[in-house]
This record gives sequence, C-alpha cells and structure tokens, in this order.
Amino acid sequence: MQHRRHLDAAEEEIFEYSATVPVIDTHEHIPGSEEDYVRHEITFSDLFCPYIVFDLVSAGMPSEHRSPIGFPLIECGWDEFEPYWNAVKHGSYARPLHIALAELYGIDELSGDNHAQALERINAENAPGLFTRIFRERCNIETAVRCASDLPSAEGLLAGNINAPSMRASAFANLEKIAQEVDAEPLQSLDDLIEVSGPWMERQVANGAIEFKSKAMPVDVPSRKDAEPVFARLRREKTLSEEAVVPLAAYLRELEAAKAAELSVPLALHTGVWNDFRNLDVTDLIGFIQRNPDTRMDIYHLGIPVVRPALQIVKNYPNAYLNLCWAHIVAADMVVQTMREAVDMVPLNKIFAFGADYVFFIEKIYGHLVVARENLSIVLAERVKRDLMDMSRAREILKSWLYDNPKAFYGL
Ligand SMILES: [Zn+2]
Repeated sequence: MQHRRHLDAAEEEIFEYSATVPVIDTHEHIPGSEEDYVRHEITFSDLFCPYIVFDLVSAGMPSEHRSPIGFPLIECGWDEFEPYWNAVKHGSYARPLHIALAELYGIDELSGDNHAQALERINAENAPGLFTRIFRERCNIETAVRCASDLPSAEGLLAGNINAPSMRASAFANLEKIAQEVDAEPLQSLDDLIEVSGPWMERQVANGAIEFKSKAMPVDVPSRKDAEPVFARLRREKTLSEEAVVPLAAYLRELEAAKAAELSVPLALHTGVWNDFRNLDVTDLIGFIQRNPDTRMDIYHLGIPVVRPALQIVKNYPNAYLNLCWAHIVAADMVVQTMREAVDMVPLNKIFAFGADYVFFIEKIYGHLVVARENLSIVLAERVKRDLMDMSRAREILKSWLYDNPKAFYGL
C-alpha cells in the first residue's frame, strides 16, 4: 500500500526542506515523563487510539468497554475487526499509523498474520531512549507542549499546558483537587472556588506551566447568577454532563482569561469535531475573545468543520491565533483548502502548524508530522507555482509556522 502522498517537484522541494526545520509540537496528551510512558505496554487498541477507534465504532464495530483514559476498546478478534478496519483505513486518522508502521517497523500493511508480531516489536522498542529517538531524532521536535491536569517532568523536551478549572468542572472531585493543591479548605461555595482558582493558576505558572486549556462553549455572556445554582448542584451530585455544567464552566473561563492575561500566558481553546460539535462551535468564542482583548487565545483544531469562521475570527482579532494541532489528520484535504484561504486572509505570524494530540504509540507523531508537512508543502508550493511568492519565501513561511511562531508565542 502506498503511504506517502504523491507530491510534484515544487511540493517535494518544500517537503524535503521541512524535514530540516526544527518543530514545536503544540499539543500532546502523553504521560508526563518517559519513565511513565514506557511503563505502559502498548496494546492493539493503543495503535488505533485515540481517534481511529471512533471511526471504527462509527463504521459499526461493537465496543462494550472504554479504556482507562475514556476511549473505545477493540474487543473483537482480527476476523471480526477486519471489515471495520477496511472501512476506515483510508481515512486521514489512519495515515499516521500506516506511516509509522511502514517507515519505523517495515510493516507495509497490518494484517491478521502480522499484528501480534508487530506489537511484540513495538513493545521491544518501548524502552528508555524512545522519547529522544522519536521526538528529537525522527521528528526534529525541539519541544512538545503536553496537555494534562498536571505538569510534565521530561525536562527540556516537554512543556506543560494545564487543563483550567473550566475544562474539568463536570466532576466536583477535580475542583476539590484544585483547592487541595493550594492548601485551601474544602469547597463550600462558588466564592471558595473563585478564591482558589487565581492562586492555583499562579502556582502552576510558577512551577513551569506555559498555558492553560479550556474550550468553546455554547454560551453568550456568562453570569454569576447562572453559575451559582450549577455549582450547588455539582457539589450535591458530584458529576454533571458537559452540557449541564456549561453555565459554571463559562463563568470560570471568564475569570481564567483575566488571570491568564495577568500572568502573560495564553489560553488554549478546543473547538469542533467531537460529539455534538455545535456545543464546541468556534463562533461561540467571538464574544469571549472580544471581552478579553489582553488574553492571547490559542484556537485549536481549525474549528473543524466550521473552518471559514475560524479564519475570519483569527483575521479580525489581534488576540486570536490559529493552531492546526490535530486538524491535519481529522481532515487532511480540508486543512489544505483552508490553509490556501488562510494565506489570503490571516497574518502569517499567527499560525502554528503542528501538534499531534496523541497518548500512546508516539511513533504516530512522526506519521502525523509527515501528513502535516505534506499538507503545508502543497499549500506553499501552489503559491510558488502561481508566481505569488518565491521558493525562499515559501521556506521561510514554513519555518515560521512550524517553529518560530509557536516558539515565540509560548515563550519557549
Ligand atoms: Zn487534545
């Protein structure tokens, strides 16, 4: 099977150059140290996790249980699995897996005959030294921004983006943990939570956090009046659905934006893709971006599928930035077309072009980076072929997207 996309001469020239450019990987969910990572044995499900599994379920694959990190598990044998795999293996979610298996393990196509042996070999490589081999030697990644509820310890390689209180407000235990982390009394009221949130963010930044993460939410102007009863209900019931907690989460996010500006760190905002994506609509961020002009907004995932409004937002507001993390594999050609339009619309210094967004089997980060480099090369080579820029300018822009812009933005 052919795993690399065919590129013409101009595209190939930029693609080859891209391999020499250092990269800031703006988004990962990997464990916070190599020691923790290699302790985990890579399973068959991990190869397809966290994204291909959702396509498999969408294709009809039964999945009774979820992994400890919340993703569908593959519970059937190869023969039952194969028709679902055939239905999704040509999608862009699957390409990083194909590329990683082919180029790092010499496995051209996963099959009933080779998958067990493939896992054995992958786990034999899953040992100290893997982070350096994949991130630095394979991908030329200088720093990867790792998003979680704690800070990473892989000094130099990983930088920490911490889930903000608004991002974890659907479980009361998560908010209680925030209070504990600043040695505060158990939370009795919304006031208590507000009181600990600021100092908690200060402490995270003092300990090295470079960013906080929240998301787009279906709310216009949040208010204390709407947040108060949701906090009381959450305290009583301990967990609420993502939808039910929105009035509280959106109110917290407003306070976080002000604090992030004070601490000179950006706020990352998930947009699009998952479940009822109308609840993650990038256009719902407009009021929030306007109300917080001093907060730098790191807008993730291109708003997929709401991509054109995402560009318009980044174009209109000086505090809004475009981060292509994950987008290249959600919809490769949608990214190519949108980036064609982005070059026309968006100041080029506000674009961060790569973040892989993986948990385990980090060899897929390399596959994802290949897809991203292809997409960016197609977009920039087209400008060169149309005589709208020369090759040296195309290279310069590519480097700014993969390296200079994110490095400056995160202060790395
Ligand atoms: Zn993510």
